[in-house]
Amino acid sequence: GQRDDIAAVSTGASADTHWLSVALDVPLPGLFDYRADRPVAIGTRVIVRFGPRRMVGVVADTPLAPTYPPAQVRAIDAVLDDMPPLAADWMKLARFAADYYQRPLGEVILPALPGALRKPAAYEGARSAGGPIARIDARAAKRKTGDAAPVAAAPTLNPAQQHAVDTLAAATGFETFVLFGVTGSGKTEVYLRAAEAVLRSDRQVLLLVPEINLTPQLEGVLTRRLEQAVGAGAVAVLHSGLADGERLEAWLRAVRGQARLIVGTRLALFVPLPALGLIVVDEEHDPSYKQQDGLRYSARDLAIWRARDRNVPIVLGSATPSLETWHHAESGRYVKLSLPQRASEAEPPTVSLIDTRRLKLEQGLSPQLVAAIEDRLARGEQSLIFLNRRGYAPVLNCEACGWMSTCKRCSAFMVLHRGMRSGHMLRCHHCGAHERVPPACPDCGNQDLQPMGRGTQRLEEFLAARFPNARLARIDADSTRRKGSAEALFAQVHANEVDILVGTQMVAKGHDFHNLGFVGVLNADAMLFSHDFRAPERLFSQLMQVAGRAGRRGSGADVYIQTGYPEQPVYQALVRHDYAGFAAYALDERRSAGLPPFAFQALLTAESRELATAVTFLTEARDLPTARPDLPGAEQVMVYDPVPLRVVKVADLERAQLLVESDSRPALQAFLRAWAPCLADLPGSARVRWQLEVDPLEI
Ligand code: ADP
Ligand code: ZN
Ligand code: ZN
Repeated sequence: GQRDDIAAVSTGASADTHWLSVALDVPLPGLFDYRADRPVAIGTRVIVRFGPRRMVGVVADTPLAPTYPPAQVRAIDAVLDDMPPLAADWMKLARFAADYYQRPLGEVILPALPGALRKPAAYEGARSAGGPIARIDARAAKRKTGDAAPVAAAPTLNPAQQHAVDTLAAATGFETFVLFGVTGSGKTEVYLRAAEAVLRSDRQVLLLVPEINLTPQLEGVLTRRLEQAVGAGAVAVLHSGLADGERLEAWLRAVRGQARLIVGTRLALFVPLPALGLIVVDEEHDPSYKQQDGLRYSARDLAIWRARDRNVPIVLGSATPSLETWHHAESGRYVKLSLPQRASEAEPPTVSLIDTRRLKLEQGLSPQLVAAIEDRLARGEQSLIFLNRRGYAPVLNCEACGWMSTCKRCSAFMVLHRGMRSGHMLRCHHCGAHERVPPACPDCGNQDLQPMGRGTQRLEEFLAARFPNARLARIDADSTRRKGSAEALFAQVHANEVDILVGTQMVAKGHDFHNLGFVGVLNADAMLFSHDFRAPERLFSQLMQVAGRAGRRGSGADVYIQTGYPEQPVYQALVRHDYAGFAAYALDERRSAGLPPFAFQALLTAESRELATAVTFLTEARDLPTARPDLPGAEQVMVYDPVPLRVVKVADLERAQLLVESDSRPALQAFLRAWAPCLADLPGSARVRWQLEVDPLEI
């Protein structure tokens, strides 16, 4: 056709030459030129040579001419046509994410695909048998489909739920809904009804859940309820814990429109969905929606973009919405749907503050807290003691000379851990370094080294001694390291084989504990006075969630929060179960301080062996706008001075960061688009590792 003629004339290549711009997962900006001897559609996967390596790439454009001299442009090795090209709307989502988060397109597209689809080796050799998709299909053809599961009865909706379901059913195009309701108010039931309606109209639903909430229980409920409505095989689950083959199979069923409800963690945001009709983001405030490496995206934010692009409604559900979301709900940009009461007869727990300033604590526990555990034990009810600090003690100390167990590679203490077999160990939670506890102080030889403070292990030890007849369990990242061990521990709690449960934030989410009568919260103040401006927000939502574990059935559950600062607004609001009051207060503070959601931020972080090297690079980056006054948006953007990170050294690398801020998102975006591409050319950039994060959650 016309295009081929132009290419042939202008490049001297043959009329059969088709130029391709290919996205590759390499840390270089831009796309890469290749040629093919037949037309290849945008969104097609291809195998190409890149340097000495063979890689799978995705065709992102089919230009009339390459950017390189045509003679230097290599031919692709193969077109992978075992799957239709990635759809235009999906490519558009990837392009938006790459542009918004300032990453090369290939670093967005390729990691979003199941592993098997981006490995050339999967298509090579005698055993490849037509590639991974052909193998999945052959396996699926042999498998018999199971019978539909025994039928789960749906409860009658209460008026608030009914209103929410009706409002969602009436939504015809893009609209952002905030489903605001405490734990147990029946949000999941609303998602199910809204999903059923969409599924019956032959469209797909994407349900995003936080990492830890994707339990077999939830999967079971969804499968039983929804497969009844739309048939077996309609539910697909996607998360990072799946084996490669399982993930590919679920992904293919979604792409082909066979799976109708796709439930998954943040990575499921990137599954192609030909018939998308509704997106639900459960616990939308949860930090696990933010990816913390590579493409540092917010799955919640991208989900809203995707819903807008596909013109479908989106529901953000939470008992404690992020202040960003709440701000939009209050201003009317999002539509708020409230579920003010618990759905079942269960009454909310009574929250009390234990003022520790005038109390004598025993291993960190107030007499009231100990008495409450005793009381619940006598009644045959469970207690949960929440302490967000794992290990035995945060530091080991020599009282004779003041020595502390610091990590040699990090500016942090090594945490004392009680080992299973190997005795006590010191572990660094930053770099993973570990060593045996020294028999004596390395500085003065004192043999009486003492643990300072306490973590979950020490608390468990104390409770075991204090309540010798109680059955104890501990749930934290250490006790659940082996695959399946978390589920086993939770199953014990559900089966009433545990009287006292000690846990970190891992216990706060996703699980209903039917016999839990008491929750005690230790050391919450540590979170309150963190350097991070989001700390009170996070504390409120975490404690609301922990409190919500109690009394899911019945009444009379108690929550005791130990604090030396009972007058703090966060705690006062918790006692009143008053998220809205807390949010109003916190938003006022943010507004007067000029912080998100009233400002928009990006963070440039650099690391190097020497702090000065990192700071030099960041200073060059800071001065760029001065040197280049033509940078768009610069006059509306504030670039702060470089500062060391709070934990400045991790694994022998010193870290510093530079904050970029604006009260206008478009101005910040315009600035980043011009500024970010210049960073790699700064003289100091070769001597540091750096990354840019847009909308950082932690500063
Ligand atoms: P949330 O997701 O808000 O925490 P769930 O949807 O899990 O709440 O509901 C909490 C409990 O209440 C569940 O056991 C659920 O089956 C039950 N439930 C939900 N809606 C109703 C209703 N309308 N009537 C009775 N029970 C309900
Ligand atoms: Zn000493
Ligand atoms: Zn370390």
